[in-house]
Formats: sequence, structure tokens, C-alpha cells
Amino acid sequence: MSPKKTQRHTCPVCGFDRLKEAPRSSSGGASFEICPACGFQFGVSDDDDGISPEEWREDWIARGMEWTSKGIRPPRGWRPEERLAALKGKDA
Ligand SMILES: [Zn+2]
Repeated sequence: MSPKKTQRHTCPVCGFDRLKEAPRSSSGGASFEICPACGFQFGVSDDDDGISPEEWREDWIARGMEWTSKGIRPPRGWRPEERLAALKGKDA
């Protein structure tokens, strides 16, 4: 159930699985990509603002798991609850 046609990366905050780049490279460098789902920016929200993915996730859930990007639309069938469940299930 995991098609690997194109490489996709999963957001460690919300489980959105279509990030363009890995949030962290193998050497630890941040992608500076902003997750369109939860709005977390790797290397900025965490490194610069000192907010952990866990904290951001809790806050995002408290706000109703809203899609944050104005420019990117959610994929068809986007269900944040399912992505969060998958994220917790595999603990990646
Ligand atoms: Zn995210």
C-alpha cells in the first residue's frame, strides 16, 4: 500500500505525505520547506523559533487541523486524522 513512483516525504508534525523535500537531510540540514498542511517550516519553526514538532502538532490539532497553505490546495481525500494516526502508528 505504499506506491513509490516518486519519492515523497512525510511531515513529522502532521503526517502530510507529499512534502517535496525531506524535512532533514541525512546530514541534519533543514529543508526550509513549509508544510502546506500544518504550516511548520523545517529549520525555522524548530531551529529559529524553538518549537518542537510535538508542540506544533498539539497546537495545530487544537486549532482544528486546518489546512494552512493559501497557495497549495489539499490533496483529494485529505484526512488529517488518518495521517496523524499513520504517523503515530509507524513512529517514523
Ligand atoms: Zn505538516
